[in-house]
Amino acid sequence: MKAKYEEGEVAIGLDLGGTNIKAGIVNREGKILRRMSVPTEAHQGGEAILQRIGGVVRMLADEAAAQGWLVRGAGIGTAGQVDSTRGVVAGATANLPGWAGMDLGNRLATLTGLPVLVDNDANAMAFGEAWVGAGRQWRDFVCITLGTGVGGGVVINRRPYRGRNGYAGEIGHHVIAGDGRPCNCGRSGCFEQYASVTALMGMVRSLGSPADKELSSPEALFTAAGAGHGPALEVLGEYARNIAVGLANLVHLFDPEGIVVGGAVSKQGELLLAPVRLELAGFLLPVFKQAPKVEIVAAQLGNDGGVIGAAAAFFDF
Ligand SMILES: [Zn+2]
Repeated sequence: MKAKYEEGEVAIGLDLGGTNIKAGIVNREGKILRRMSVPTEAHQGGEAILQRIGGVVRMLADEAAAQGWLVRGAGIGTAGQVDSTRGVVAGATANLPGWAGMDLGNRLATLTGLPVLVDNDANAMAFGEAWVGAGRQWRDFVCITLGTGVGGGVVINRRPYRGRNGYAGEIGHHVIAGDGRPCNCGRSGCFEQYASVTALMGMVRSLGSPADKELSSPEALFTAAGAGHGPALEVLGEYARNIAVGLANLVHLFDPEGIVVGGAVSKQGELLLAPVRLELAGFLLPVFKQAPKVEIVAAQLGNDGGVIGAAAAFFDF
């Protein structure tokens, strides 16, 4: 039987963040064959970012051609809200001034001569985890990233669920405390104000204890907790409970097979996930405790998830 794709077919994946543009040539097994990363230089504005992305795609396309690989297209996951049907960046964070409104799909296709697919970065990461990462054995799952903010992607039937406008999955801005901490989206009580790494370090500062040079980074905090440091355990206990409140909402809404936790802090593995699982049980409706348990696991693709997931859109799997 003829293979579905020719040998040597690849796609270019890009992950656009406020600091770096990460990119790679990805084959149909989801492996990155070549990679590059350049600074976003976001302060130069949207047009400059677009031109820089165009340059990255052309360089990788030239490299693919030199290797005899056929490029099916370029996929890009960008921070912000994306209308993926039209390939337009509908909303962007303050990290990317002048990016909102960018007609990214059409402009990049013109610059590179390639088919272009645009999604938001959290959807791309979820798609990558569905393809060759922690979600590859599941049909329906939710992926969250805990970083400076909190991103999310919902995978239904092995495809990102985008909703009517493409804005679905704003898990970081689902409200878990009606009158809670102010959020940089202008509202209050958003999940990311409780579950982001930024929030975690804010909780450390609010301890106000001078003890705590040893708690000055997330890594140090987890190490201290592992060694039985009281204040560190207290902060991480509260942090795990905050995360569990949000995850319980996701379980109640989607009844997923699992939840994949990504972002820098997911490197802590069981030090983070074990207390989250314990706390989660306390927030679930009884039926969810009697049913097969939702699995809470760490992301497997690390920093590569966005690049691999952006390319995934060009392959069936
Ligand atoms: Zn918010």
